[in-house]
Amino acid sequence: SDNTSIVSFGEMLIDFVPTISGVSLAEAPGFLKAPGGAPANVAIAVSRLGGKASFVGKLGDDEFGHMLADILKQNGVSGDGILFDEGARTALAFVTLRADGEREFMFYRNPSADMLLKPEELNLDLIRSAKVFHYGSISLIVEPCRSAHLKAMEVAKESGALLSYDPNLRLPLWPSADEARKQILSIWDKADIIKVSDVELEFLTGSGKIDDETAMKLWRPNLTLLLVTLGEKGSRYYTKNFHGAVDAFHVNTVDTTGAGDSFVGALLCKIVQDPAILENESKLREVLIFANACGAITTTKKGAIPALPLEAEALALING
Ligand code: ADP
Repeated sequence: SDNTSIVSFGEMLIDFVPTISGVSLAEAPGFLKAPGGAPANVAIAVSRLGGKASFVGKLGDDEFGHMLADILKQNGVSGDGILFDEGARTALAFVTLRADGEREFMFYRNPSADMLLKPEELNLDLIRSAKVFHYGSISLIVEPCRSAHLKAMEVAKESGALLSYDPNLRLPLWPSADEARKQILSIWDKADIIKVSDVELEFLTGSGKIDDETAMKLWRPNLTLLLVTLGEKGSRYYTKNFHGAVDAFHVNTVDTTGAGDSFVGALLCKIVQDPAILENESKLREVLIFANACGAITTTKKGAIPALPLEAEALALING
């Protein structure tokens, strides 16, 4: 089938976010349920912007898993790639909001259902239908979902999809920093499009300088587009033929969760509509302005999924 343009692979989970910041988990007076998981956020971002998206991943056959599947459906994301594990439970994250605004996560992954996705369970027809296959997150860390991740990438590539990678470094989940760097870079050559944050750029290169020279250390001949997102400083882009920067929008930021996923979703949505933007700097800059606008809007509301914009909202911000 060619129903799906963008297939996003990985985990979906629930963040339990305390109602107040600056206290330990045990002292939190209450929690809000915030659905998330970077690959699921990207699928929903695409769908909100009018694109066709599917999510491929495994949920627990429990209250939380069914809640997450409903959220995908309500947002127009195809559920053809969702599996429910009979034994394991849906992944959960317990967030601490530190007084300085940073977040700390404790994960329920014991193992959680997402980690138990096996290569032979993949809906290969769905993956073969992708024009863009997006991946990258904690599914690379452990078996069997690691093998499923690698197989899905291979099948998507063989069927001609563009591969899009966001490493989404979650350092505490890796056995060590060295292992994280090694594994993330081991699949670097396979992608066509890679997006890293400034923190990931620093981590992967070992350089404290966020500049073009550092970014070029992550360039590979097979790549089509490398992006570095810089929060309120916007984003930078690198291709074989040109590179540059696009400023961020000034907005009233309350919670940056999901900004990167919103940015990626917006970019992929536009690439599916017109792959020629990858070769045309002025078209690419226009798309990155749009992606920056989507990222900025996502920071103006609490949570990731509820804050992902519609196209009209992004255009309203751009056109002031
Ligand atoms: P990640 O969530 O992966 O760390 P960023 O925080 O860099 O990614 O956000 C992605 C994009 O969203 C940025 O490139 C920028 O355009 C936009 N964005 C993020 N934070 C802000 C902010 N505080 N103000 C305006 N735009 C922002």
